[in-house]
Amino acid sequence: MSATIFEKSKAGRRAYRLPENDCPVERIDLPHLRTSALGLPEIGEQDAVRHYVELAAKNYHVDKGIYPLGSCTMKYNPLVNEEAARLDGFTGLHPAQDDADAQGALELMYRLERSLSEITGMSAFTLQPAAGAHGELTGIMLARAYFLDRGEKRATVLIPDSAHGTNPASVAICGFKPKTVSSNERGLIDPAALEKEVTEETAALMLTLPNTLGLFERDIHEIVRIVHAKGGLVYMDGANLNALMGIVRPGDIGVDVMHVNLHKTFSTPHGGGGPGSGPVGVAPRLAPFLPVPRVVAGPDGYRLDDAAPKSIGRVHPYCGNFNVFVKAYAYIRATGGEGLREVSRNAIINANYLLSRLRGFYDLKYPGPCMHEFVLSARNLKRYDVRATDVVKRLLDYGLHAPTVYFPLIVEEALMIEPVETESKETLDRFADALAAIAGEAERSPDKLHEAPVTTPVRRLDEANAARCPDLCCPGDLD
Ligand SMILES: *Cc1c(COP(=O)(O)O)cnc(C)c1O
Repeated sequence: MSATIFEKSKAGRRAYRLPENDCPVERIDLPHLRTSALGLPEIGEQDAVRHYVELAAKNYHVDKGIYPLGSCTMKYNPLVNEEAARLDGFTGLHPAQDDADAQGALELMYRLERSLSEITGMSAFTLQPAAGAHGELTGIMLARAYFLDRGEKRATVLIPDSAHGTNPASVAICGFKPKTVSSNERGLIDPAALEKEVTEETAALMLTLPNTLGLFERDIHEIVRIVHAKGGLVYMDGANLNALMGIVRPGDIGVDVMHVNLHKTFSTPHGGGGPGSGPVGVAPRLAPFLPVPRVVAGPDGYRLDDAAPKSIGRVHPYCGNFNVFVKAYAYIRATGGEGLREVSRNAIINANYLLSRLRGFYDLKYPGPCMHEFVLSARNLKRYDVRATDVVKRLLDYGLHAPTVYFPLIVEEALMIEPVETESKETLDRFADALAAIAGEAERSPDKLHEAPVTTPVRRLDEANAARCPDLCCPGDLD
């Protein structure tokens, strides 16, 4: 491994040259003054540049290769969206600017809300939530406000066992009781079983569509009817809208409230910790409860309106993560309605192609066809003492990113694969060839998988500790 930037440090080397100070020197007094050196590396500018280039080369990212993390929609983010988000008119705006001076920004938010309503069939949207999980919380808060307003006491939210972990968490934070609904042998909600669970106590059914197995709920009309018949609401986790655009509009099938992730389907880069955006769409009966301020269009232009007596209030300072709105809006406009339908069709066909290529090599608990993703099981390799972890660690040695593993929980040794629409057939083939080869290695030389990865800068990490107590310092670089 090459030397770290701390090892390259030479006392007195500088990457900058500052002009002579021509201001009076003010001294900082103890206890605010440092008493020891900061311990930063001292290197020249070229070495600093090389340091960052080396780090970037070690990193794996969407611009380097396929990134098939299921449920994450790691697709190509057109770079032109970044240019749009960086326009001076947007970056120079102050969030507290008068409405009259921010007409372009307000119009963009208004139009983005309308576009999302058109794509999903929902009546109105709020752009405030900063992520999918935040959207879930907002959506469930809307449901709570709706029932409070009606004077109905409903305590339970039903959630299928295939759901994303954020679903029950959002429900619990909001003061409802999450209750699990079991999937049937096809990985779907069984209407007859659901009917037994739904009562006058049920506030909502929170379902993911397509579900996390990548399957579309075939009985969705019946499911919605059952929940509505008892006065409950249907919440749809639409974080993965990639399979539905131009094909199914949740509003048309009776969904009452949903969130979408702009940082998935709408091509905003993500994975590095933000910023994201999880707008929430509602049916007309929930619209009075949406967060304020709302962007409204009037004869004198666009303005922010706080006048909504039933609103749940703010869920974010100012209007949300505005630069994410710009990227999503640019993507929607550049792609167009027919283009968005093509996106979804290609996401579905890519997933089904990959599934058909991998079927014989890994188990498939719930038969396809799938939507934008599918879940294989590495259970068949257990007889060689090989687990899903070993398979995906070996994939790193092939220079490819791992899929999501061990989720959803209802599939043993799960490999959750979402190829997305932007990958070419050649790339999909390379990925399928690698996974097929690894299944062969598991039988012939399982130790290759147990020892993997051998080609990466670090080998197997203690994953729990790496996530919970990251040690980001080099030994001895700081006192
Ligand atoms: C990604 C995802 C979420 C959570 O979104 P965040 O922006 O990470 O909070 C929720 N549900 C599903 C189905 C998802 O795929």
